[in-house]
Amino acid sequence: MAYDPNNIFAKIVRGEAPCFKVYEDAHTIAFMDIMPQAEGHVLVIPKEAGETIFELSDESTAALIKATKKVAAAVKSVVKTPGVMLAQLNGAAAGQTVFHVHFHIIPRSGGIDLKLHAKETANFEQLKALAAKIAAAIK
Ligand code: 5GP
Repeated sequence: MAYDPNNIFAKIVRGEAPCFKVYEDAHTIAFMDIMPQAEGHVLVIPKEAGETIFELSDESTAALIKATKKVAAAVKSVVKTPGVMLAQLNGAAAGQTVFHVHFHIIPRSGGIDLKLHAKETANFEQLKALAAKIAAAIK
């Protein structure tokens, strides 16, 4: 399948769609997932276009992982869970639903199941407040 430049994350990169941003650098943007599987669910995307990690340049891949690690540390410190899951789905068969590469940062606590993937939209005021706290915790 060819990369669709009108996918929602491409629009976020171009500033054509809104997001609750927590981080941005030359190669990446991180923002709240609006249908979080746990409180503090953040997505990190490269600015470079690519459907899956296999189309991404090595430079963008490295920047993406570096940004994911940085943002995940901030998420962990704000949400205060003992665990953080990093997930990255390649292809519909793997469960990918938005076809622009991204990492999921999902806080985890023992005994608490994840909510369903991309199902329930969160309260935007709460997402905005959490985004501000995570942004402030990024070192
Ligand atoms: P995937 O299934 O491709 O791994 O993950 C896509 C993620 O994007 C899902 O977790 C879904 O909740 C999230 N998502 C879908 N549409 C939007 C949107 O418009 N804005 C934001 N911030 N997240 C979205």
